[in-house]
Amino acid sequence: MIIVFKPGAPEKELESMKKNLEGKGITVSVTVGEDQTIFGLIGDTRSLNAGQIELSSVVEKVMKIQEPYKKANRAFHPEDTIVDVRGQKIGGGHFGIIAGPCAIESEDQFLTIARAVKKSGANFLRGGAFKPRTSPYSFQGMGKEGIDIMKIAREETGLPIITEFMAPAHVELYAEDVDVIQIGARNMQNFDLLKEVGKVQTPVLLKRGLCATFEEFLMAAEYIMSEGNENVILCERGIRTFETWTRNTLDISAVPVVHRKSHLPIVIDPSHAGGIYWLVEPLTKAAVAIGADGITIEVHHRPEEAVSDGQQSLIPESFDKMMKKVQLLRQVVTEMEK
Ligand code: PEP
Ligand code: MN
Repeated sequence: MIIVFKPGAPEKELESMKKNLEGKGITVSVTVGEDQTIFGLIGDTRSLNAGQIELSSVVEKVMKIQEPYKKANRAFHPEDTIVDVRGQKIGGGHFGIIAGPCAIESEDQFLTIARAVKKSGANFLRGGAFKPRTSPYSFQGMGKEGIDIMKIAREETGLPIITEFMAPAHVELYAEDVDVIQIGARNMQNFDLLKEVGKVQTPVLLKRGLCATFEEFLMAAEYIMSEGNENVILCERGIRTFETWTRNTLDISAVPVVHRKSHLPIVIDPSHAGGIYWLVEPLTKAAVAIGADGITIEVHHRPEEAVSDGQQSLIPESFDKMMKKVQLLRQVVTEMEK
């Protein structure tokens, strides 16, 4: 249930209603907007009478929420969430450009790529230190050493770093070291991991599960947010379909659907969606045109030698060319939406 207050409703009245609701065992999530305050009620609201609450002189309207996700629901929070990571923003008109290799392989490899993508306009560095590989015999990542390399690159470029955590224990060990924690597609419903990243304030990039519905995707975000971490960025990275010519099928409708249902930003990962380098640019253009809040792109200076996902990585020169087109397209989209 949601209570929307009249503009300028006195603080004292709001506080007293909040206390009253909390006394009934209900958790009240308060959103203070530019003009109006909204109470999102979480818990068993069956005992509440919406009509009666509406009789209050400070209440504008009361709405019942059918969806199981509350904190991620746009009704709870009508304004777009802007996630601010060390001054780099994603959401609410801020476009995030995340780039870097699939996996961190060495200091030299990561720094070479980090410098190149920064020069082309990336504002976040990505790289996997713990890799969720389909085969246990494939390269599993450099672990802590990989995170240390990312920190060196952050120091040099000034860009925030994003890396995937695969286990709940990674949160306590490394949440302070990185700027954004990535939750991979395979872990989207690893509820223990979601709860653990919910307990810190480090922003989270949550990737859509391989076969997850939008509701399951938003419920995964809800797990994180319900623990207290509301800095969630969603990421559509393609889903499993019957198609085999592409690695996954990019579900571009994720952008307008998520924007309608949720206030959280959503970025597109064309690299894992298409699974091949020549699909990255067309899918990126689609992402920009449809109004995504950002993109995440795999870049490698020697894709033929990459230990993972070389086939879908752009070389820095192609990334640079694509970025120029992204900037142009962004201008058109921004102009169009004015
Ligand atoms: C990745 O970003 O490198 C990755 C493993 O992605 P996903 O979880 O979407 O497969
Ligand atoms: Mn990858």
